[in-house]
Amino acid sequence: MQNTSFRQEAYINGAWETSTKTFPVTNPASGQVLAQVPDLGTEAFEKAVQAAQAAFKPWAALLPKERGAYLKKWSALIAENAESLAQLLTSEQGKPIEESRNEVNGAAGTVEWFAEEARRNYGEIVPPPRENLRLEVQYVPLGVVAAITPWNFPVSMVTRKVAPAIAAGCTVVLKPSEETPLCALALASLAEKAGIPKGVVNVVTAGAAGAAAFGQLMCSHTLVRKISFTGSTAVGRILMQQAGAQIKKVGLELGGNAPFIIFASADLEKAVEGLIANKFRNAGQTCICANRIFVEKGAEGKIIKLLEEKLKEANIGPLINKEAKEKVEELLADSQKHGAKAVTVSRNNGEGLYCNPVILTGVPVQARIFREEIFGPVAPIYSFESEDEVIVAANDTEYGLAAYIYSGDLAQGQRIMAGLDYGMVGFNQVPLAYEGVPFGGMKQSGIGREGGHWGMKEFMEIKYLAIETR
Ligand code: NAP
Repeated sequence: MQNTSFRQEAYINGAWETSTKTFPVTNPASGQVLAQVPDLGTEAFEKAVQAAQAAFKPWAALLPKERGAYLKKWSALIAENAESLAQLLTSEQGKPIEESRNEVNGAAGTVEWFAEEARRNYGEIVPPPRENLRLEVQYVPLGVVAAITPWNFPVSMVTRKVAPAIAAGCTVVLKPSEETPLCALALASLAEKAGIPKGVVNVVTAGAAGAAAFGQLMCSHTLVRKISFTGSTAVGRILMQQAGAQIKKVGLELGGNAPFIIFASADLEKAVEGLIANKFRNAGQTCICANRIFVEKGAEGKIIKLLEEKLKEANIGPLINKEAKEKVEELLADSQKHGAKAVTVSRNNGEGLYCNPVILTGVPVQARIFREEIFGPVAPIYSFESEDEVIVAANDTEYGLAAYIYSGDLAQGQRIMAGLDYGMVGFNQVPLAYEGVPFGGMKQSGIGREGGHWGMKEFMEIKYLAIETR
């Protein structure tokens, strides 16, 4: 493969490690095997934790601007290698190349943002209740962080954890999804080229059995101070239970069931463009993508017509694997069993892991698709008549990650925004993920936030000092 940062070994303590046991990484668009990656186990994970622990004190002792300088170099290398990283991303994950380019550019921006944030780690002075007393609050790095990332954004999920963690002074042991380890390894190779000292960033790889073993070891390891996880709510729940034994800190970025609410007063053309960009990005395999589309009564006909027209032009890649496609087909069959009508927009032959986009109407709330993450190019439309009704329906889920509203009336938008139990809400526009904002969810969509100064504080502990000054 023509890619200077391509690696198919694990990266532990600044060295590239192979194994006799490997697992294949395949291209979901073609089924072609791209690489054989080490299928590591407990011994290698332990070695990575020890390396991260040994690297922690000297890394945390650097001046914040010195750590920032390493991050700046890493960011510059990601930007310089953006095209080859984007090609790698598309080949192992399947999203269209323009989406991969956006993801890689965003990741370079995230690393740069945290490079600068490293030196803005201000503490606080609390006014004392008596003379000769100084009350000081500092933010200090936690130590070794175990990071676990999913396959749907294999570049940005890595940088969103590693950049704030190492900017804060922590060191990291990361395990990417077995579906997409190559992007994480390429990023580690660029971190190595940036001169980031050995042991600060470690990337271990493992197949499905190894993923559970990694989680168990990290949650029970006394040297690991935090588990930073992005993935499904089901696995987040397991990790939180395991981490409970040691009261270990957890950061959980989990699943979503986003409502996308369109009022008849909205610019419907713009609303449908936003819906397509949001719902069908990454073939619908996005935690913040519209999962339930609520359309005000009377506007459904026009919305569906516009959606059908515009979907013919949309660029939609394959799903990640066979199980993902089967899950989408199951949800579709279940909604049709409950009386939903499906309109399939034929764009490709639906072969292999590709799926034609589907618009569903008349879906009752009893159908599984109302409650579960679809993670595929299926758009279920529900109609509503009043503001109160749509707020209740939108909140009727265990999730609370992202929500969207399109309306021609700002006051109406503000009433709906106030009523939604979601960590992030978009009004008349859809992008939400910027490096400086708090990305994350309420309810069972997670704990903590990634991005901005909130994201860096997640990797720090509060240390309070009461000092007699006499
Ligand atoms: P997943 O099955 O939960 O896997 C996520 C990661 O956890 C992968 O690295 C996986 O490894 C690993 N894993 C699986 N079982 C584990 C266990 N018992 N202990 C420790 N680690 C384990 O999720 P996914 O299918 O990769 O990703 C899709 C999910 O992520 C969706 O629910 C989506 O909404 C969510 N997500 C959320 C956000 C957010 O910011 N809130 C962002 C992106 C995605 P293997 O893949 O090797 O099994």
